[in-house]
Amino acid sequence: MALETTQTEEPAVTSGRAVFIETYGCQMNEADTELMHGLLRKQGYFVAESADDADVVLLNTCAVRERAEERIYGRLGWLKSMKEARPGLVLGVTGCMAERLREGLLERAPYVDLVIGPDAYRRLPDLLGRAQVEQDALIDVRLDREETYADAELDRVPGISGWLTVQRGCDKFCTFCIVPFVRGRERSLPPEEVVAQAQAMAAEGFREVTLLGQTVSSYYERGHDFADLLTRVHAVEGLARIRFTSPYPNDFSNRLLDTLASLPRLGRHLHLPVQSGSTRILRDMRRGYTADAYYDLIDRTRARLPGWALTTDIIVGYPGETDEDFEATMELVRRVRFDAAFMFRYSEREGTLAARKRPDDVPDDVKRERLQAVIALQESISKARNEAMVGQDVEVLVAGTGRRNPEQMFGRSSCFRTTILPLGPYQPGDVVPARVVASTSHTLFAEPHTP
Ligand code: SF4
Repeated sequence: MALETTQTEEPAVTSGRAVFIETYGCQMNEADTELMHGLLRKQGYFVAESADDADVVLLNTCAVRERAEERIYGRLGWLKSMKEARPGLVLGVTGCMAERLREGLLERAPYVDLVIGPDAYRRLPDLLGRAQVEQDALIDVRLDREETYADAELDRVPGISGWLTVQRGCDKFCTFCIVPFVRGRERSLPPEEVVAQAQAMAAEGFREVTLLGQTVSSYYERGHDFADLLTRVHAVEGLARIRFTSPYPNDFSNRLLDTLASLPRLGRHLHLPVQSGSTRILRDMRRGYTADAYYDLIDRTRARLPGWALTTDIIVGYPGETDEDFEATMELVRRVRFDAAFMFRYSEREGTLAARKRPDDVPDDVKRERLQAVIALQESISKARNEAMVGQDVEVLVAGTGRRNPEQMFGRSSCFRTTILPLGPYQPGDVVPARVVASTSHTLFAEPHTP
């Protein structure tokens, strides 16, 4: 039997225990792992090098696609044998899959000790203490409309680039998406807190901050919208570059686009998830825009933000998608000529409106064919767009030494392209002006300007 937990009493004695958190899924989860590390450190935990060295192993999970969940079950099966060999080991599942499956997760993996949703991380130290003595698994999956973890101290992984979660949850309820059910309703951090965290990150040596939110451009708190927030974060000294993900197309008023244009340290890259080129499918998905409105947004963006990279997300094989609907998506990809795209087959998620009301009726082989076709089209466009960058000037934020070739450095251009530089008198964290001399579909090669 699993115990539903509602307690927030003082944590049990836990000091000196080693925790290892494996993170799956998106950047929000990576940031949540840093949050959990911070909360646990305050209670005397330290981070283990690997699961083998840990007293507590947590899998911080993703539920967006079925394949992600199957992978996590595979990993749990492996950890089960580790737990059999070390009975004191506490094994927990946190994040979106924990929230989605709840007790159901324990039916398939009864050896799991803890199931913890994304709004229950403050109670994690207490739950871990109790898990040492309780026989039964503990479940805490209450969603909390107020929880932003605004005052929590994160243990960010040191580096050049770091995440800053400014908004949690989502209110959009697109029919195919599980996120509003597993992450709860949208809420934003106060702008003063965002600025304070950005300042702290700059002081810790981060050169690039990425503001995170499920629909980050819908940020709104105490009269401050996303344009205000960006302006305030942009004023933080010491940051070379500011990015944000993932925005929502409907939020891009001309005012917001003009604000982006006015802030030179913003990364010159905008991710505008379209999902489909068919207005009929977009309506069914409840995305809130038509294909024509999206084309209009692209035109307004290119007029105001020349040279910015545009990327997108696309789903093929959504229920009822006909050949004509799919051709509309292909036509949109051909016309917009995105710099890159994340493309997926539709995967039914139990509990969503699409799963309840729309039969998953596009045959799997058709989904596969459509996915291959749109990937091939986008790859050729990405390659051509990268080729067109040859001869252009870019500013590369250097991240480190080449993984394959120690004679090279790598980093990202402002327009978010991985860029290789020869070794030179620059360090990770430097912004190096350079000229692109060669390209592949995913990488630029650049030579620094001589002073
Ligand atoms: S905007 Fe739609 S697709 Fe994005 S997280 Fe919210 S519900 Fe999911």
